[in-house]
Amino acid sequence: MFIKDAFLKKETTLSFEIFPPKNLDNIFNTIQELKKFNPDFISITYGAGGSSKDRTVEIASTIKNNYGIEALAHLTCAASTKEEIEEIINKLKQSKIENILALRGDIPEGFIQGKEYPYRYAKDLIWKLKEDANLCIAAAAYPEGHNECKNLDNGVRYLKEKVDEGADLLITQLFFDNNNFFEFKEKLYQYNIKVPVVTGIMPAVNKALIEKIQKLSGFVLPDKVKSFMSKYEYNEDDLKKAGIEYASYQMEELLKNKVEGIHLYTMNKHDIVKNILDNVSFK
Ligand code: FAD
Repeated sequence: MFIKDAFLKKETTLSFEIFPPKNLDNIFNTIQELKKFNPDFISITYGAGGSSKDRTVEIASTIKNNYGIEALAHLTCAASTKEEIEEIINKLKQSKIENILALRGDIPEGFIQGKEYPYRYAKDLIWKLKEDANLCIAAAAYPEGHNECKNLDNGVRYLKEKVDEGADLLITQLFFDNNNFFEFKEKLYQYNIKVPVVTGIMPAVNKALIEKIQKLSGFVLPDKVKSFMSKYEYNEDDLKKAGIEYASYQMEELLKNKVEGIHLYTMNKHDIVKNILDNVSFK
């Protein structure tokens, strides 16, 4: 099933992101547990430079074919040749994967974009994927800007290029300030971007991880989040509690505002997902 069709049936979709761990055995238990929340889809990250590409395909295939949940496979393009991209698309199609999150990926240090690497931006990968009408394409959106493009209007112009190239839905980078997302959504209307926008929420339970993503991608860390992350930096249980509480509050407010979808960055921790979903009134 194309993920874009889920938005026709539901006011707000629920989905999860997982990453391929080194030991694949652990992930199957996580998927089993996540299935209990009846997600509309599960997305699987892709290591920059393709370091986990086979595991991404294998997990996507298992989610779709063994667990009966729609899978959204992430795919990055900047450091890949045309042949590498075609090989992975073929593998995904052989596994009956119909949904791909088309990403540029972070540029490896010292990497020089040249003829051999024809996909400079995510929109170039979307163009390539859209050669095949049997795929539904998602793309990334940055409500608070991206490290390489702090000007929000320019960011939305580039986002429009991805939608015009064929992106069927957008998934946002994690954010902690809902108001920034609501303003961003207004901007999308102004630029005539009408595809569903799924809000990415990551519970702030791992200070180092949040700081690492912020460095790479750029989002606003509100004082409240900064403060509890510092306060409980060395107290795992309390940080977990505070992170879950904040994510629950954020999600509840997004639901009240009828966002089209909520995508939880699970970090493969189904217990945290359960705690959050127990706190919110998700129908
Ligand atoms: P693009 O849309 O190509 O944008 C990259 C930068 O170029 C932006 O700053 C943009 O504003 C700018 N830009 C775009 N078009 C133009 C243009 N025409 N002219 C000038 N500038 C332009 N990374 C991974 O490695 N693996 C993953 O699995 C993964 N999953 C992700 C999931 C989500 C939901 C998100 C939000 C991000 C994910 N990332 C992942 C991170 C992502 O790869 C990085 O943020 C990357 O730096 C940008 O990717 P993009 O697809 O948004 O790129």
